Amino acid sequence: QFSDIPVVRHVGYIEVNTAFQNDVSPLKVDLIYGTFKSEDGSNYILPVVKRAENMVVNDTLSHDYLSPAGIESFSKLACRLLLGDIENLWNDGKVFGIQSIGGTGALKIGAEFLAQHMNCTTVYYPDPSWEMHGSIFSFSGFQKKIQYRYMNRETIEIDFEGFCEDISNASVDSVVILHACGHNPSGLDLSKEQWRTVAEIMKERKLIPFFDIAYQGIASGDIEEDTWAVRHFHSEGIEFLCAQSFSKMFTIYNERVGNLMIVQKSGHNIESLKIHFERIIRSIYSSPPNHGARTILQILSNPKLYDEWSSSFKAIAARIIELRKALRKALEEEVAFKKWNHITDQKGMFIFLNLTDSQVEYLRNFHHIYMINCGRVNVSGLNFTNISYVAKAINDTLRK
Ligand code: PLP
Repeated sequence: QFSDIPVVRHVGYIEVNTAFQNDVSPLKVDLIYGTFKSEDGSNYILPVVKRAENMVVNDTLSHDYLSPAGIESFSKLACRLLLGDIENLWNDGKVFGIQSIGGTGALKIGAEFLAQHMNCTTVYYPDPSWEMHGSIFSFSGFQKKIQYRYMNRETIEIDFEGFCEDISNASVDSVVILHACGHNPSGLDLSKEQWRTVAEIMKERKLIPFFDIAYQGIASGDIEEDTWAVRHFHSEGIEFLCAQSFSKMFTIYNERVGNLMIVQKSGHNIESLKIHFERIIRSIYSSPPNHGARTILQILSNPKLYDEWSSSFKAIAARIIELRKALRKALEEEVAFKKWNHITDQKGMFIFLNLTDSQVEYLRNFHHIYMINCGRVNVSGLNFTNISYVAKAINDTLRK
């Protein structure tokens, strides 16, 4: 009977968000999800996205099903955002893309493919990482989930030696998830030199890289620079997958737009490979939705809209950098006994405060400040009105 099913409760984001919604205090601060907020705390949509959406609505003549792999021209432009000029690679079948339901959907269909067709059973992902990596792969049949060392929690720095040691011990055909930029939650990215070493190890150990890129352009402020690692792996002749999320890049979270890019050495089997992916998609959701991907296609294929998008997107990245500086300054003034340089050293949407569970709970219960465990802060939930309140509350928490 259904009633025999063990009782569970929400953990992580959903639980924290429910508590935030139920909090009636005017002081409450939402630092939970990775979504962009305006200075007044409201949710922000890029104006160019609104315009492109209206164009899509006006141009829509039918709601016919898309093919399981989605809109090919969208996927091609999505792959171009990652690798630059792909015309020949695309025509040769060495690079191809599948429209997906957000970055999460790209990870899911990639995981299913690796389990079913590459007989992969082990996945490595960073400690710490985005909370869904482990479950997506275990729900897709991976028997072993191993977290490789990534961040030293004492120093809040990359534990590169630990990282290399762990993946060097991985068995052949293990899948290794790599955050291409703007690592979630630590904000710590590898240097180019470190990426070169990782590529060497992966090649030598015959591991399968699975990039996850959800913050392209937000880490360094430059869309191309943030794909350096992906391009390097490609230039090294490594086959890999890359799950791409457009949620943050286009402030289009609930339209669920993503792309799975597949890079292979030879394209001779491209048609049959696509059929394998289509079969996986047919068995999960049949075919993807249209509106969000069409909107992004409109922007990526229209030079005027593209320019508008990239400059307003740069403004978001610049605002994040300003907010980081402001929080660091406020904390240096309030909590002088600790170092806060990591706040401006980290990249992307998140600040990793490295708090204990009870400190996170204290901030929530006594100061109405909400973030997920370990003290991960969505930078854009901060603003010049609440920063000093947040810094004072962190000071109070750390002194308890
Ligand atoms: N990967 C990482 C690292 C993320 O942080 C996120 C979302 O926060 C995703 C994937 C999922 O992206 P989407 O919301 O497009 O499914």
